[in-house]
Amino acid sequence: MSTEPDLNQALFERAQKVIPGGVNSPVRAFRAVGGTPRFITRGDGAYIFDANGRRYIDYIGSWGPMILGHGHPAVLEAVQKAAVEGFSFGAPTEREVELAEAILALVPSMEQVRLVSSGTEATMSAIRLARGATGRSKFIKFEGCYHGHTDALLVKAGSGLATFGNPTSAGVPPEVAQHTIVLEYNNLTQLEEAFALHGKALACVMIEPIAGNMNFVRASVPFIKRLRELCTEYGALFVFDEVMTGFRVALGGAQAHYARLIPGFKPDMSVFGKVIGGGMPLAAFGASRAIMSHLAPLGSVYQAGTLSGNPVATACGLATLREIAKPGFFEALSTKTRTLTDGLKTVARENGVPFSTDSEGGMFGFFLMDQLPQNYTTVMTTDKERFNRFFHGMLDRGVYLAPALYEAGFVSAAHSSADLDATLDAARQALR
Ligand code: PMP
Repeated sequence: MSTEPDLNQALFERAQKVIPGGVNSPVRAFRAVGGTPRFITRGDGAYIFDANGRRYIDYIGSWGPMILGHGHPAVLEAVQKAAVEGFSFGAPTEREVELAEAILALVPSMEQVRLVSSGTEATMSAIRLARGATGRSKFIKFEGCYHGHTDALLVKAGSGLATFGNPTSAGVPPEVAQHTIVLEYNNLTQLEEAFALHGKALACVMIEPIAGNMNFVRASVPFIKRLRELCTEYGALFVFDEVMTGFRVALGGAQAHYARLIPGFKPDMSVFGKVIGGGMPLAAFGASRAIMSHLAPLGSVYQAGTLSGNPVATACGLATLREIAKPGFFEALSTKTRTLTDGLKTVARENGVPFSTDSEGGMFGFFLMDQLPQNYTTVMTTDKERFNRFFHGMLDRGVYLAPALYEAGFVSAAHSSADLDATLDAARQALR
């Protein structure tokens, strides 16, 4: 046993005195998996380093944004240059226009975007805009999808389709939750029933098209197709929350993926975050010009932000988008991700461990069960203790996976084949 002091533990104890739970976002506290959270001192390419100087292969990538790995030279240069020019002006800049143009060029379903500072802000604003544009209050979301911590989105299913949702957090009044209808993901029957009951009162339906907040669960093609038809028929806006999938599962996001499978498919509104900021606080929501013109200062839906379109964040986002738009980027990233997931599956099979896995672009999930789940209830039947042992087994061997079984994983362009091999070696030992 090492006799050196554990600096992560020391920092965690210090942190808990001044920050609730010692963290600024709950999942970082390792509550689900137990043990001491690692305090990260720096990142370099595919690696992060903790307070003890220990190196980890990073499959969280700040929960998605770090698609190029840490400290990519072109991004670093853009950020350093922007920082010297000024941190924030609270006035328009050319870089915001450039970033908006770059995003729109890659996402043809949108004609305009508004930049904000977090995914939560973006989904909250999208819901307000959908309500303002349609003059309706209710909306549908799906169990297991996370859209940030806006009151009306922190809601779980009520006792039936005719009743409305229940808050999942203290501090959310039931009146706020009463307009939120929560349905089971991939359940066509519930969807039909909900539209029959509430269709004409719905402002929108918001979905994670490939859900990364219940590990990795795809919306089935028939489900997306039927949702599109129902939204059109009832005049509800179809909102793709691509905070996680945007510029991550494909250059044009999950909507590009579904457009390949459903000819002509597009959502009415989209929300982005994570990759578009390249690790800086930046997110966006966008739609047709007609919908976006309801926003202030043009229209009556109010939305604003002191740091919105921040010059350093937009520089970081733009430099990141430039790199991932290079030819072959997503093919290479997808191949890496698949090498990892195929390898994990083989290792699990060698050890007689039930295992299923799926990925798209640089986003992946795995389940310690034989078949890929289709909804949240099935995801939560995962053997939690076994997952936690696997997580710690990997962490002890220098591989940093998401510290909860309901989170997706992320591969970056900086992960080398040696990193992938080292990960599979660690998995072989951990699963044994
Ligand atoms: N939507 C989705 C799909 C997300 O995954 C997240 C964050 N994980 C959010 C919204 C909220 O984003 P943020 O944490 O930046 O507020």
